[in-house]
Amino acid sequence: MNEILTLNNGVQMPALGLGVFQSSPADTVAAVEAALRTGYRHIDTAAAYFNERQVGEGIRSSGVDRDEVFIETKVFISQYGYDETLHAFDVAARKLGVEQINLLILHQPAPWVFDTTIAAYRALETLLADGKVRAIGVSNFTPAHLDRLFENTTVVPAVNQIELHPYYRQRANEQADTDHGIITQAWSPIGGITFYPGFNDNAVQSPLSDPVIGAIAEAHGKTNAQVMIRWHLQQGRSAIPKSVRPERIAENFDVFEFSLTDAELASIDALDQGVRGGPDPDAVRPPERIFTIPEE
Ligand code: NDP
Repeated sequence: MNEILTLNNGVQMPALGLGVFQSSPADTVAAVEAALRTGYRHIDTAAAYFNERQVGEGIRSSGVDRDEVFIETKVFISQYGYDETLHAFDVAARKLGVEQINLLILHQPAPWVFDTTIAAYRALETLLADGKVRAIGVSNFTPAHLDRLFENTTVVPAVNQIELHPYYRQRANEQADTDHGIITQAWSPIGGITFYPGFNDNAVQSPLSDPVIGAIAEAHGKTNAQVMIRWHLQQGRSAIPKSVRPERIAENFDVFEFSLTDAELASIDALDQGVRGGPDPDAVRPPERIFTIPEE
């Protein structure tokens, strides 16, 4: 049984979901179907993943009732601004084939035009008030970004989705989220960013082959991926591991029947290298990477 997290507005969210970043459109339909048949009830996508349509298709073809599925998606920076973000909801809902989105978040801050980020978040507040989304949140927000958001908006984000895996623990960011009643959701929860093709090709090791995690996994008769997912869940986080392979989708969900000890949790925490794999949320994004989201 999946664990359920209660968000700061009372909405319930399955802690473990399926991520679909870098899943091709065809793979996405099959992965979502496989996940829902396995028991997942939470899917994390984004406008910028170009597969919201296939997420909707996978949900419909799985036979699982839409109302049972927690759909999370993200507004991309090229859609920021008040009217633009209201429109981004319409586009996402149409692609997903749903009337209401469970959790809509800003994909990242745009610190070089933070007023546009604020305007986008204000649109999320309006969508929440209008019942078009059940919860709103952010992604890749540092504690400083959160402070600037609080100065200018009313609704505290329900979720902050950040890079968080054993090699990049982000304790201060998680603590700031917790202090504000925000659930931290781990992206790259099993360290996918450490081996993205063409991105981190020089990485010497991924947590999936880490010997410390491996020893814990062996002691429990589990895999490194399962141990990492358990570590997130026991520490109160949401995690959204991505896979397009049915056997791994099932493996990543088989994490509710064992527990890590405090010492095991601490030894995974101690693997932190303090170096992010993904982009710095304070960096200016080059214009060529601010692409347009198609209307259809
Ligand atoms: P993950 O940590 O989920 O790792 C995914 C990688 O691990 C894939 O290469 C996958 O390959 C492989 N994998 C999955 N399960 C296993 C397993 N049991 N054993 C061995 N290998 C496995 O990384 P992601 O970066 O994909 O992060 C997950 C999700 O987080 C994304 O899909 C997306 O939804 C979100 N995300 C959000 C970001 C943001 O800026 N907000 C940024 C990045 C991700 P295969 O598919 O072949 O199984």
